[in-house]
Amino acid sequence: MKRIYFDHSATTKVDPEAREAMLPFLGENFGNPSSIHSFGQEAHTAVDNIRQVLADFLGSSPREIIFTGSATEANNLALKGVLESFHRCTVCGVECPEKGRIPHLIVSQIEHHAVLDTAKHLEKQGYEVTFLPVDKNGLVSPQEVKNAIKENTVLVSVMYINNEVGTVEPIAEIGEMLKAVNSERKNKNLRKVCFHTDAVQAIQYLDCRIDKLGVDLLSLTAHKFYGPKGVGALYIRQGMPLVRQMDGGWQECSLRAGTENVAGIVGMGKALEIGIRNQESGIREKIEKLRDRLIEGVLKNVPKCELTGHPQKRAPHIASFVIDGVEGESILLMLDEKGVAASSGSACTSGVLEPSHVLLAMRIPVEKTHGSLRFSLGKDNTQEEVDYVVEILPEIVAKLRKMSPFK
Ligand SMILES: *Cc1c(COP(=O)(O)O)cnc(C)c1O
Repeated sequence: MKRIYFDHSATTKVDPEAREAMLPFLGENFGNPSSIHSFGQEAHTAVDNIRQVLADFLGSSPREIIFTGSATEANNLALKGVLESFHRCTVCGVECPEKGRIPHLIVSQIEHHAVLDTAKHLEKQGYEVTFLPVDKNGLVSPQEVKNAIKENTVLVSVMYINNEVGTVEPIAEIGEMLKAVNSERKNKNLRKVCFHTDAVQAIQYLDCRIDKLGVDLLSLTAHKFYGPKGVGALYIRQGMPLVRQMDGGWQECSLRAGTENVAGIVGMGKALEIGIRNQESGIREKIEKLRDRLIEGVLKNVPKCELTGHPQKRAPHIASFVIDGVEGESILLMLDEKGVAASSGSACTSGVLEPSHVLLAMRIPVEKTHGSLRFSLGKDNTQEEVDYVVEILPEIVAKLRKMSPFK
């Protein structure tokens, strides 16, 4: 049976060209980038070349890029690293306006768990955290971010594209607003409010130049743009106070100890280069067209089905729905039987259906959240594949509704 992959928000297949670029570093070029001999220097050069590729893409200096093991790790480093660095100030004993203040963090309620659970952890540790609500389309309001800022606020973290519903957040507007807020704070001798974005879902599709966005920290991960798993990066604006979360060696400007994943980093760099090339040749428009065809087809053919996320401000590759009277996971299983891989926002953890925190934050009723279904498209998907899903989904939903005990 031919299999169709519509789960690119979960992960993507490593591009053959990226895999090819990695192979020497899984073979002859096995050196440790920290070693001074030629083996080490080869690896060091390879890693630094990719640092430059990322820097060019983000419009930063290569010294502002730290390689990590994932976006989860990058997000942890950003949030914990910044909050702890400000807290350190409160105990240093030196007279400063921040002394004795507990740092305050603002995150949106629809962040990926890598940010949300890190924020919850920090809250448990005694930091102050605001979980900012979103509107019914999953949009964060820059004005509401501004209203949530207090004297002790040190960091705002808002994702670029929501991975479940595809809403594109107004990162540049929030960045602009923070710039104005920060210049006022400077006059009052208050600390700058830093800005972090989890840009994982946006890398191949949206403008990620840090100065356009006005961010101080940005997380990404290779496996969402056709690179290998287990390698990510964090952009850290020069001069940002940050406490490292991994102690040990002096790798990555002493901000992330541990020998670099050289082959992974090389694969990530090549995947990014390919992604930029594809973007220039119009991949975004191609995927958007497929997405719209899919959304239109599903809404037309499946009764009692709604699109989730913003109708216009949405990722080129995400089509997400809630379908009345069915469970998302049952749809996934039946789609899988027909060779189609998709996903659902609700996760079945130990037999209990956990409603998606994203859909709940968008004030979608709990019963409806259980019927959530997400298709995320990629560069190799075709119109035939979209049409096939549009054809089989109504039958699957009808069958499940018939079987349902709650009618
Ligand atoms: C996949 C994803 C992550 C986690 O990335 P890993 O590298 O797998 O840890 C974080 N944020 C978003 C928005 C994601 O889609």
